[in-house]
Amino acid sequence: MRAIFKQPLRNYVIGLFMLISIMGIILWTTHSNIILFGATLGVLFIIIVLIFMHVLDKYVKPLDPIIETVHEMVQGHYVTRVQQQASGKAGELSKEINILAQNLNELSTNEQIQKEQLSTIINNTESGIVLINEKGYIHFVNRKFINMFGQTTKHYHGYLYYDVLRYEEIHQVVQDIFLHEKNIKAFFAKKDHLKTSYIEVLGAPIFDENNRFKGSVLVLYDITDFKKLENMRKDFVANVSHELKTPITSIKGFAETLANGAIHNEERREEFVQIIYDESSRLQLLIEDLLTLSRLEHDGFYLHISDTDMVELVESIRPMIALKAEEKSINLNINVEDVQADLDRKKVKQVILNLLNNAINYTADKGEVSLEVTHEEKQLYIIVRDNGIGIDQELIPRLFERFYRVDQARSRNTGGTGLGLAIVKHIVELHDGHIEIDSQLGEGSSFTIMLPIERTSE
Ligand code: ADP
Repeated sequence: MRAIFKQPLRNYVIGLFMLISIMGIILWTTHSNIILFGATLGVLFIIIVLIFMHVLDKYVKPLDPIIETVHEMVQGHYVTRVQQQASGKAGELSKEINILAQNLNELSTNEQIQKEQLSTIINNTESGIVLINEKGYIHFVNRKFINMFGQTTKHYHGYLYYDVLRYEEIHQVVQDIFLHEKNIKAFFAKKDHLKTSYIEVLGAPIFDENNRFKGSVLVLYDITDFKKLENMRKDFVANVSHELKTPITSIKGFAETLANGAIHNEERREEFVQIIYDESSRLQLLIEDLLTLSRLEHDGFYLHISDTDMVELVESIRPMIALKAEEKSINLNINVEDVQADLDRKKVKQVILNLLNNAINYTADKGEVSLEVTHEEKQLYIIVRDNGIGIDQELIPRLFERFYRVDQARSRNTGGTGLGLAIVKHIVELHDGHIEIDSQLGEGSSFTIMLPIERTSE
């Protein structure tokens, strides 16, 4: 039909039929002939059918692919397009629908990207996140929350917070937010088997655009490491105070005794003055070690690296340590390879001195202490050995803690501050080196320091 009634032929045919019908009607009204009337009606009917088919063909059929496309879009498939190119108004409509589909597709792609970015951030954040609606039902928990509190999202989503969150402190936070509609902060200890973690909860109310309360969001941080650091800092302050208190009390006590008359007793006077001198030296040593540690830990601290001759470095230490060894009749054995290394000379000297001092302090009279400096490829080895009291294997990891002493009294008697190995560890780490301790209780110890011989930067 479409082929036969192509424009403008179709219009001519329609026009011709219309002319015939009008002429038929005129003829019939003038001649009242029934056959003529019938023929006119037949022609009229054909004309109406043709007009109907024409309208259907031109205006209704092109709408089919458009309706199909809109239907697809309603279902969220924005990549769909009207494929058939119609002419006239239907064609214009197709173009507009295609533009609309393209815009909606871009919008939905952007929305999808934003959603994915948000979900990536929320799920990869280091805090647990929980969303609770205004009725108290949990809407969302992130991955970190699941890591912290166990179970799966299914266990939480859609449940009342007090049915699935087992910590009373969290309930209290949610209740306070619901009651006061303001930010609430709390803190609690979470105990799992033998492990205790410390959790901080920050809760905030959520409001919609009309400022109506819509629920709350909880952010949970694991602050165990922070808490440990805080405890270490508190312990350190307590330890420093304690360490300072002992010599100061002693100095004050003996000074008072002297002032109260002992100054006139020649024998006691000398003894007391000697004690005051020893205690103040101890105090000075402690303060020096504290200052050294504090400098080493300072962010701005840097090493003064120079090409160091190890034989020469050890020779500068020898007189300082030989005297001490002699006092205890300790046999000091020093063996140094002729090697150069990129080191902070002063700091490495302090490491060797601290280790040798310890070796002599914790070895009985007439014992053996040795220092060996050797190298292998690009690694320098500084090994200090003794055949002294040794250290219990279990206690070895604690030796580098500040003020840690295996035997408090013994360390104090030797004049130790309890900071020597903490300083050693810092200096070695600043040189990108390591320490190994090998010790047998009652048999002796060996401390091995490994340092890179060459440094690329600094
Ligand atoms: P201190 O000033 O008490 O010696 P350090 O930090 O140098 O402090 O050493 C910590 C503790 O490690 C000492 O108190 C001692 O108990 C133990 N220690 C260190 N070196 C030796 C060693 N060579 N032999 C046995 N114990 C040692």
